[in-house]
Amino acid sequence: MAEKITMSADGTLNVPDEPIIPFIEGDGTGVDIWPAAKLVLDAAAAKHGRSVAWKEVLAGEKAYKQTGEWLPDETVQAFREYLIGIKGPLTTPIGGGIRSLNVALRQLLDLYVCLRPVRWFSGVPSPVRHPEKVDMVIFRENTEDVYAGLELQEGTPEAKALIEHLRESFGWEIRPDSGIGIKPVSVTGSKRLIRAAIEYAVRRNRKSVTLVHKGNIQKFTEGAFRAWGYELTREEFSDVAVSWDDCGGDPGDKILVKDAIADITLQQVLTRPDEFDVIATTNLNGDYLSDALAAQVGGIGIAPGGNINYVTGHGVFEATHGTAPKYAGQDKVNPGSVLLSGVLMFEHIGWQEAADDIVAALEKTIADKVVTYDFARLMEGAREVRCSEFAQAIVERL
Ligand code: NAP
Repeated sequence: MAEKITMSADGTLNVPDEPIIPFIEGDGTGVDIWPAAKLVLDAAAAKHGRSVAWKEVLAGEKAYKQTGEWLPDETVQAFREYLIGIKGPLTTPIGGGIRSLNVALRQLLDLYVCLRPVRWFSGVPSPVRHPEKVDMVIFRENTEDVYAGLELQEGTPEAKALIEHLRESFGWEIRPDSGIGIKPVSVTGSKRLIRAAIEYAVRRNRKSVTLVHKGNIQKFTEGAFRAWGYELTREEFSDVAVSWDDCGGDPGDKILVKDAIADITLQQVLTRPDEFDVIATTNLNGDYLSDALAAQVGGIGIAPGGNINYVTGHGVFEATHGTAPKYAGQDKVNPGSVLLSGVLMFEHIGWQEAADDIVAALEKTIADKVVTYDFARLMEGAREVRCSEFAQAIVERL
């Protein structure tokens, strides 16, 4: 019987054998990649005596055509009610009053973690020599920082008033023809993000959590993020984790909490990827880092993502690439990103065996050189197949 996923008072998810899971197909190539991903997810679940009662909800162009709204209340309500959902890519309406549908969903549900695991699947073409050394999980803060959209446009009365106020009250001289962005980084936002990262590291037997920041320059935002991370480690996790300063870099069997400055991190994830494991970082750093890392292991065609609030239990898993409109409806692109987001979702709800099976079958398919155009153009001797055929090939190898 199809039932809702619920959350217990202790914060664990209660997942029935047939959970109702809302999905947004997505615009553009969403019509290609979503059915392909669903085919594989359903087959893997069935192998373990489970099934998903998929419930379609609307957003983006499809919603706008049918309801006149880009993000109908019903859709937000469904994600609220059923806790866990998944979505394909959405067109960002230009000049529609909504900055981005993805951002709107994150804010409405307070999905404070952007989870981006980055690992290499054997056989995937990569621009680096040792992609197998990349196995990182990025926890990117999702609700604040300069990227949260608190901005004033150059030349507006609001921007002028703020510049004037800053000059009068703080003696800060800001060029009058400036646009202004505000970068709030709070104790609340930072600690709940870092808490989620350390708890994940504990649950999944990871070795370290690196706090990535730009605190050498931005002391009261980025630097504070680092300081609060170490404070949290001492306050709440002293039995399972230890900070670098408190152990001299030798954590014993505990999880090592360390930190790294964002610019050097972008070098070292390339030159010494095996020194990074779980990463917790502020919003803008996390944006750069997750895409740079995705490129190292084969690009955005297969990078998965999830937006999660571990306190309320809400989670929306999503393809991390856009709608690739030039390929829409051609049954051509790689369904890997939304499929692996489904895998991440299965892991999140405790369906680990089904998740592992999909990863193994995907690796086998790529090892057999049966791939979509994006990989085929980078591999020698590959057989290029359509999006739906790629999904079918994975199912055959499950
Ligand atoms: P995009 O849709 O991500 O496409 C850029 C390029 O990435 C494509 O031309 C293609 O590369 C490659 N690509 C994308 N999806 C792929 C897939 N499934 N398999 C293989 N390759 C794939 O970025 P965009 O063209 O800048 O944005 C288009 C629209 O998507 C915009 O409206 C944007 O706002 C929106 N968007 C939505 C999201 C989201 O919903 N999460 C994220 C980003 C952008 P090649 O040309 O090399 O084949």
